[in-house]
Amino acid sequence: MPEKINSEYLLRLKNSPLPAKPLVSFEFFPPKSEEMEEKLWKSIKKLEALHPRFVSVTYGAGGTTRERTHKTVVRILQETSLKPAAHLTCVGATRAEIDEIAHEYYAAGVRHIVALRGDAPAGSGKYQPYPGGYDYASDLVKGLKKIGDFEISVAAYPETHPEAVSPEADLDNLKRKIDNGATRAITQYFFDAELLLNFLDRARKAGITVPIVPGIVPISNFRQLVKFSAACGASIPKWVEELLADLDNDPETHNMVAAIIASEQCRILSAAGINEFHFYTLNRADLTYSVCHLLGLRPARG
Ligand code: FAD
Repeated sequence: MPEKINSEYLLRLKNSPLPAKPLVSFEFFPPKSEEMEEKLWKSIKKLEALHPRFVSVTYGAGGTTRERTHKTVVRILQETSLKPAAHLTCVGATRAEIDEIAHEYYAAGVRHIVALRGDAPAGSGKYQPYPGGYDYASDLVKGLKKIGDFEISVAAYPETHPEAVSPEADLDNLKRKIDNGATRAITQYFFDAELLLNFLDRARKAGITVPIVPGIVPISNFRQLVKFSAACGASIPKWVEELLADLDNDPETHNMVAAIIASEQCRILSAAGINEFHFYTLNRADLTYSVCHLLGLRPARG
């Protein structure tokens, strides 16, 4: 870890109190096999004890997990005390088909949708709106609002979405999503707290007043993270790489370091007045649970 950052971090940590009672939410993806399903449910049960505000379930690229996402969301609603949010994208479906999915969620009692554009299926080039579909997330938000009184969350990009023509245009797009009815933005993951704080500043100046919840990814697999980050435009600072170097074959140490990286990030943000975090759990409870513990969250206190 470079000297400059090291001392800066220590100083900030020293001065940053634990958040009084952080508000958290957890993101899962729908399982592909029975084995993965078992692992997911163990994770859901463990994290349920921390009383998250909501838990969300992603929608596979190209709409490939329509059934699995629905099944997981409805099971969470029926078998736990948690409030589930279903991710939904515009990819590969007409408006009528997407509306039908939303009606099904509403009928099942699901009241929170994370509305996204989605990406073109791998290898198929640039995103193209589907004929007769919703073109962008802002259109989807508008459509969902006509279907039911959904709570709607949308995506935000501290480092700007890679396809945006400019950071300003990307913020205009975020504002459009809010103006169309979304009440919360969840950010793409990032590692430098400054990036998020600068983004919040720009968003407030652009007139965006709804909560913008930082998306936090506790790193379970550095190589996978590098691959994913190249595609989604999130940068990985050198200090993160250096902290996790040579730990590929030492999962125990890797996880301890990863938990500390994520909890330091949250503590720096909480020192700046942020007290709500959305965790990309990757269906693993261990890392996210440790980070929440380091932030002072306990099952008994909720
Ligand atoms: P949009 O808000 O529609 O923006 C996409 C791009 O288009 C931006 O560059 C924007 O500036 C530009 N744009 C918007 N409107 C216009 C317009 N009218 N004309 C020209 N350009 C425009 N993906 C999944 O497949 N499934 C998931 O479950 C999923 N969950 C996610 C959860 C979170 C919290 C985040 C941050 C991302 C998630 N993603 C998911 C990834 C997301 O689908 C991609 O990042 C996608 O590339 C953009 O989605 P969006 O909703 O931000 O799109």
